[in-house]
Amino acid sequence: MREAAAEVLAIGDELTHGFAIDTNSAHIARELEQLGFVMRAFTVVSDEPHAVCDAIRNACSRAEVVIATGGLGPTEDDRTRAAAAAAAGVELRFDADSWDRIARWFAGRGVQPPERNRVQAYLPESAEVLRNDWGTAPGFAMRIDGALLFSLPGVPREMKNMLSELVLPRLRAEFGDLGTTAFHELRLLGMAEAELGQGIAHLMPSDRNPNVGITAHSGLLTVRIAARAATIDDARALAERDAAEVRAQAGAHLLYEGSERIEERAGKLLIEKGMTLALAESCTGGMVAAELAGVPGISAVLLAGYVTYADMAKVRDLEVPASLLVAHGAVSVEVAASMAVGAARRTGARLGVAVTGIAGPSGGTPEKPVGTVCFGWCLDGHAESWRLRLPDLGRRFVRERSTIEVCAAILRRL
Ligand code: ATP
Ligand code: MG
Repeated sequence: MREAAAEVLAIGDELTHGFAIDTNSAHIARELEQLGFVMRAFTVVSDEPHAVCDAIRNACSRAEVVIATGGLGPTEDDRTRAAAAAAAGVELRFDADSWDRIARWFAGRGVQPPERNRVQAYLPESAEVLRNDWGTAPGFAMRIDGALLFSLPGVPREMKNMLSELVLPRLRAEFGDLGTTAFHELRLLGMAEAELGQGIAHLMPSDRNPNVGITAHSGLLTVRIAARAATIDDARALAERDAAEVRAQAGAHLLYEGSERIEERAGKLLIEKGMTLALAESCTGGMVAAELAGVPGISAVLLAGYVTYADMAKVRDLEVPASLLVAHGAVSVEVAASMAVGAARRTGARLGVAVTGIAGPSGGTPEKPVGTVCFGWCLDGHAESWRLRLPDLGRRFVRERSTIEVCAAILRRL
């Protein structure tokens, strides 16, 4: 299996200033890896002409295919055309066809083509035009230093369409069969990243196929396996071998497998089971409800979410006995259970789930430090509750980790 290296180049001041996040590169990389290309680098560069020219030259000297996005607009700061011409040592030429298309694009919207947009029809002499049927800026393809450079618009919708309609077919034709990459993800909760890393260290050398990595987000660990092979079936089989080893290491900590987010997974399970749910949230402030509300079809089961921050609201909305709050405090397994029972009773849901905790930075005590979170669970009238002592990694962490805990409980207990 031949190896062909590819790189992505994202161009734009908004990216290097941190005002916008480069999502184009991730999309392109996934598509190219599925074609069998090996991704070696992402570069993000400002609109500064020399920086763009250098970045193009460097990427083209290292990779066989370079896909650049951005800087094709009609304004002064859009300089990718000139930078690519400079990198190749050629001039810009006016492409009458492209200008006709731009003029027609505007005419179709009932406006005169602004003279300013003419610059978008100036392309490097040696470049081949890539028609943009989704916007004004044409893209282009050209050879620089033996590499094939594609320059696409920065607007994600235009980029995606041009990539799938024009670039990928061209790469398939030009590079033939490079094999393909299969991805597999396993999600674990409750295991330390270092411990897992030690257990599967033998799968993780950097030059190994499959490529295996671990990422952690709010306590949820993801093991990502990317396996390259000649056919998708072979690639999947290769990935599956490593997945089996990860499963063995993970044991009961394995939560689920696949690329879905945990909230999506939990929401789908509720829908599948027809399990009506009411939430009672304190420290998460509606985060669990908001995440589940992102799942299509959740209205069939999610009946209500109470955000009961103050003790008074817990008493009024969830019928938590005031005496319970006085005796144990709002962050207690007793109150968590009572909140879950109250939410289920008030709505008639089969399942009530409650979260109450100390997200910090203040409010902690020696007995209940920041990160203490109690969870209530009431299924068909049977109440349970449990407590977690989360590390104090900030308010956001405590709230996100608590939301994950609720989703994990749904996945494990239903
Ligand atoms: P075009 O090449 O289509 O003219 P441009 O870069 O010249 O694009 P901008 O106005 O800079 O035009 O960007 C258009 C939109 O595309 C902006 O919302 C910008 O944030 C977004 N964009 C540009 N590059 C990226 C990227 N790498 N990832 C995600 N969004 C991007
Ligand atoms: Mg730009």
